[in-house]
Amino acid sequence: MLVVTVTPTYTGCPATAVINLDIETKLRSNGIENLRLEQRISPAWTTAWLSQEGREKLRKYGIAPPVEGTSKTGRISRLSSNEALVVACPRCGSDKTEKVSQFGSTPCKAAYRCRSCLEPFDYFKCH
Ligand SMILES: [Zn+2]
Repeated sequence: MLVVTVTPTYTGCPATAVINLDIETKLRSNGIENLRLEQRISPAWTTAWLSQEGREKLRKYGIAPPVEGTSKTGRISRLSSNEALVVACPRCGSDKTEKVSQFGSTPCKAAYRCRSCLEPFDYFKCH
């Protein structure tokens, strides 16, 4: 019996069911039939769990990964002069970006806009 422990990035994340189905489908397609998925919400997932590879995949997908150094203590350590978090644009790398809304396409993301390439993008918030 393979037991897979899944911790959602957000408690109550609406994507949890789809993620679980993806995991189960992938394992079954690799010949693993005897399996069980368990959801564990403690300890809570934090953005510190994101691997370097995971961060890079987010960026390539057009989502700015959490700014490093903001997750471990939950405090923002890298601030610009006006106390706003500096989030680099995932498309052009510019740090001339601005927050449009605290919430993006999902509650775990904020909506940003790049003032260099003018593209809107999502920022995966630290938590
Ligand atoms: Zn840009």
